[in-house]
Amino acid sequence: MALNLDYFKKALLEEKKKLEGELGEIAVRNPDQKSDWNVTYPDMNVMSAAKEEVADQEEEFENRSGLELGLESRLRDINEALEHIRLGKYGVCEVGGEEIDEARLKANPAAVTCVKHGN
Ligand SMILES: [Zn+2]
Repeated sequence: MALNLDYFKKALLEEKKKLEGELGEIAVRNPDQKSDWNVTYPDMNVMSAAKEEVADQEEEFENRSGLELGLESRLRDINEALEHIRLGKYGVCEVGGEEIDEARLKANPAAVTCVKHGN
């Protein structure tokens, strides 16, 4: 059965928009490499910051960095899946070349492997 590519493309584009919005709050896009994002420092007043505030700020930066990595990695998966749609190989397992179960794609439109070869 042929996949409804419009449905998956729409789902992927919606998630991409959401991810870019979330990334935009904690990071700025690397102007030289669009898929790379750099975490921005938390917006606190460094000039008047006491020692513990600086520690808080560093902790917040660490949190943002972890979050940013997760979002950026997810965004890469989304972009890869969109590229697969463009190339006409969406829904085909990257590892074994078999068709990916539609239920798996519905649960995760960015899946590029079948259940057997997935993580
Ligand atoms: Zn496979």
